[in-house]
Amino acid sequence: MRKPKVVILGAGYGGLMTAVTMQKLVGVNDVEIVLVNKNDYHYETTWLHEASAGTLHHDRVRYEIRDVIDRNKVEFIQDTAVEIKKEEKKVILENGEVDYDYLVVALGGEPETFGIKGLKEYAFGIVNVNSSRQLREHLEYQFATYNMEEEKKEERLSIVVGGAGFTGIEFLGELTNRIPELCHEYDVDFNKVKITCVEAAPTILPGFDEDLVQYAVSQLERKGVEFLIGTAIKECTSVGIIAGKKDEEPIEIKAATVVWAAGIRGNSIIEKSGFEAMRGRVKVQTDLRVPGQDNIFIIGDSSLFINEEINRPYPPTAQIAMQQGQCCARNLAALIKGKTDLEVFKPNIKGTVCSLGEDDAIGVVYGKKLRGGKASLMKKVVDNRSLFMIGGASLMLKKGKFKVF
Ligand code: FAD
Ligand code: NAD
Repeated sequence: MRKPKVVILGAGYGGLMTAVTMQKLVGVNDVEIVLVNKNDYHYETTWLHEASAGTLHHDRVRYEIRDVIDRNKVEFIQDTAVEIKKEEKKVILENGEVDYDYLVVALGGEPETFGIKGLKEYAFGIVNVNSSRQLREHLEYQFATYNMEEEKKEERLSIVVGGAGFTGIEFLGELTNRIPELCHEYDVDFNKVKITCVEAAPTILPGFDEDLVQYAVSQLERKGVEFLIGTAIKECTSVGIIAGKKDEEPIEIKAATVVWAAGIRGNSIIEKSGFEAMRGRVKVQTDLRVPGQDNIFIIGDSSLFINEEINRPYPPTAQIAMQQGQCCARNLAALIKGKTDLEVFKPNIKGTVCSLGEDDAIGVVYGKKLRGGKASLMKKVVDNRSLFMIGGASLMLKKGKFKVF
């Protein structure tokens, strides 16, 4: 009898967690599992702000997918998914196609630019290993070039970060640690460097604990960040940004480096493949399947899972993507065993920790507020835990963060 075939698209937190959980739940004779990913490595998206600022080498944030999957049970295909053909039960890849009985879409998110002019052309994103490496190299080039020019261009030392959500703030934490190193390395006066964070909402980290937000602002300001709050970026140009407060004349900030960290949307394949979506994210059922598509699961940043208590979607996080991966694997195993009663996904939110650089952070964990060294230690525990969950103790020891202050 032909084995059912499960295809998992994406080997990020959600997809890889689905694969490694499934390989423990099903036998090699029960099912064929295929994992498709653009690269032959997984990267820790949650560490990309470090690779982008240059405080952690990009090789530290990635590891080989083949090292963590059971190759007897999971076939890995390195390729890029282009479109999902639901009626034909197949996925078009850049270099071929793959058919499926069950599909898991775990392709992550993409930067949301809200159609703002010039962002795609001129701004940098913290998206994957390639974008992080490019941003780090670009920053370094600006510092290296500054002293080489007879007529000094101050904008080379001006950096704008758009968005003060968790990504923007975590990047600023790393950047403010990296700048003194760059100044020292390239003989640049620290006082000439200008870091501006532009946030449209009336506060940084909207919705987060106010005391902790205040702590983050004072720590980052102390290290040289200027916050422009209640100010939206309206355009990005080849020489900087145009931004403004509501009902006020827009201002121009000259900057050779503009980093766009103002939110994400679902993977563009979702809309291209005809799924009903909101900003590229599909509102999935409680069992993580797509309404009306009993053989398709969507998890992670391309899914939208409603928190019934407040009737709003859960934020797209690695914490949720990994838990969805586990639930999705259990539901797939159940379907393959002929069961129809699937598990309802119940997120177990343990807390949120936002790094402010290697030795500083803020967080609320199990309802308890943390700041400074303790919060930073907790962030490392969280980072190590995700490695452990996917690749066990060996991966955690190989890639984990163990430097304690
Ligand atoms: P991802 O982990 O992004 O994985 C998607 C995978 O799909 C990647 O391997 C990608 O290469 C692959 N892929 C994409 N397109 C294709 C294609 N067309 N074909 C084949 N493969 C493809 N969340 C937290 O909970 N805690 C944190 O501390 C935290 N920190 C963060 C820090 C930063 C800087 C950022 C940017 C995000 C952070 N997040 C954090 C959010 C978290 O990273 C995401 O919610 C999480 O990565 C989503 O998991 P995912 O599986 O949906 O996608
Ligand atoms: P976000 O949507 O959480 O924050 C984006 C910020 O950009 C918002 O504060 C928004 O007001 C602002 N913004 C939007 N348009 C703007 C404009 N035109 N000009 C200026 N500011 C603008 O996005 P994010 O920070 O990338 O986070 C994405 C997801 O990843 C979230 O779910 C977040 O919780 C998660 N994440 C978690 C962590 C962590 O737990 N440590 C770290 C990073 C990201």
